[in-house]
Amino acid sequence: MILVLKQGISEEEKDQVRSTLRAEGCIIREMATGDETIFGAVGQISRDLRFFEQLPGVAKVIPVSRPYKLVSREMHPEDTVVQIGDVELGGPRIVVIAGPCAVESREQAMTIARKVKDGGAVLFRGGAFKPRTSPYSFQGLGEEGLKILAAVREETGLRVATEMTSPAQADVMMKYVDLVQIGARNMQNFELLRSAGRIGKPVLLKRGLSATVEEWLMSAEYILSEGNDQVILCERGIRTFERYTRNTLDLTAIPIIKKLTHLPVVIDPSHATGIREKVSPMARAAIAAGADGLLIEVHHDPANALSDGPQSLYPEQFKQLMRDLYVIAPVVGKQLDFGYLEKATAIRLPAAAKKGSPKRAVFAGEMRAFAHKAASQFFGSEVKIEPVSSFRHVFQEVKDGNSGFGVVPLENSLTGSIHENYDLLLEYDIKIVGEITLRIVHALIGHPETKLEEVTRVISHPQALEQCRDFLESQQGWELVAARDTATAVRRIKEKGNTGEVAIAAKEAAALFGLKILKEGIETNARNYTRFVVIAGDRVSNGPKTKSSLVYATSNKPGALFDTLKIFAENGINLVKLESRPIHGKPWEYMFYVDLEADVESTELRGVMDELSAKTEFLKVLGSY
Ligand code: PEP
Ligand code: MN
Repeated sequence: MILVLKQGISEEEKDQVRSTLRAEGCIIREMATGDETIFGAVGQISRDLRFFEQLPGVAKVIPVSRPYKLVSREMHPEDTVVQIGDVELGGPRIVVIAGPCAVESREQAMTIARKVKDGGAVLFRGGAFKPRTSPYSFQGLGEEGLKILAAVREETGLRVATEMTSPAQADVMMKYVDLVQIGARNMQNFELLRSAGRIGKPVLLKRGLSATVEEWLMSAEYILSEGNDQVILCERGIRTFERYTRNTLDLTAIPIIKKLTHLPVVIDPSHATGIREKVSPMARAAIAAGADGLLIEVHHDPANALSDGPQSLYPEQFKQLMRDLYVIAPVVGKQLDFGYLEKATAIRLPAAAKKGSPKRAVFAGEMRAFAHKAASQFFGSEVKIEPVSSFRHVFQEVKDGNSGFGVVPLENSLTGSIHENYDLLLEYDIKIVGEITLRIVHALIGHPETKLEEVTRVISHPQALEQCRDFLESQQGWELVAARDTATAVRRIKEKGNTGEVAIAAKEAAALFGLKILKEGIETNARNYTRFVVIAGDRVSNGPKTKSSLVYATSNKPGALFDTLKIFAENGINLVKLESRPIHGKPWEYMFYVDLEADVESTELRGVMDELSAKTEFLKVLGSY
């Protein structure tokens, strides 16, 4: 049952409610959402619910009718984010767990770990205790395999996941592993579930071969009832009459799980299909359907793998898949971030800022503006994200060391560059350390009583108004009013209380101000993306970088720009953006802003950069990331 507490309940009254529930043998989960505090209570409750309703400080009691309680959304309306080392699973970043079915040797595990890390995986998987259908198949290396996993973590920085098949393995799991997997065949091994729940490490619970969603959630309930809410559900295909694939992947489980529970869900397309060529399409579909992550088998020599070779991707296929997911994720409001692991680690280092608090990122605008969303997706919950009043303030705060990071928009796919930020990048001695692309879906937001036919005025950021031009032109005689950012526009609507006025902003802003969404998806073209960059006082980490931004000026003579571009072409460096900006105070002279798919600060490219320097009159590296 759920106890909603009265606003203004005293601490003594809360204590009294807690001890009454404990005396009834209940497990208690406490949640505060906004002004409301609720207690979730689970146990064999014999008393009439009215008994709890009349306790001092209790506003109402809601029974939870589902058989699973602790895993249900009612008990925990917010999504659970599972923390595995520096990695957060269940937030806006897609987490990919990859590796071989089984750890076969130290060399095999290391080779594959390096390759999947290179492809963008943030966790390494590998079985040491293999529950094989046949007793004559390879059963895994046992504890020796776990030691190899620990060595992989030591060498690559990837956290490691492995399957636990018996409560007797609890100690070694605790010692060597970061994420404990419960296999499909053991989903209803209740002793094992209880034992896994007590280890104190996150648990990945696979769906049983023939388990219903409800049975699966009941198994998760066993783990949570041991006090461990760090549980990830993993759909890996179920047994149906179809024999063309090893199992049938139930992708509908994703939206079902999302509705019924607060736990994150990952998809294992390898065991679901059993066929290498089917893995990538299903992985792409899983991300599009809202999965929080993937579990994928990868092997550098699948023909000779000791288990599940036919379904293991080659490292090159894995890399290609990751690039595809990088494109798909923003469509559904998520990110796949190749530098995630390295970045997550770097963010925790105090050296991330010159001085002051490193764990702060600033953006221009109000909370719930798109820049806020971009910052939250980039940093997760590790960094405090705060608004400042202008783009210049973002740069100044970072320069002064008051904030470790800043997030500013650079370009939009419909309306082009945000020139002010290009100019600020040139003016300030600041580095670009990351980028994030956000799909921008605009909503028309008004008061609950507002009717579309009665609207006379619309407020938003000029960029947003521009991005919704077709929709706005189809409305007769609306007055367009500019605001500093989209969330400010929503606040103004709220404060003025005029039902004839609406704002254009992200739908999240409507929720923040308690307003209504009149229409969603009003941008002219659904392929509306804004690219934000993350700025910092200096490079934050030394890991590999895939992209660089430069600005330079050439002399004013024929072929000068061509001479610089030739250098990139001859060195096989892909140019992804070229834009010219006027040089202030020098009419008709221009700076060139260039984005390249290369790390221009790496030692290998030193020669190329020297050559470029010789062909330019001014050259500044804005950052490699
Ligand atoms: C595995 O992940 O290697 C495995 C054995 O999976 P499942 O339990 O889904 O069959
Ligand atoms: Mn396997």
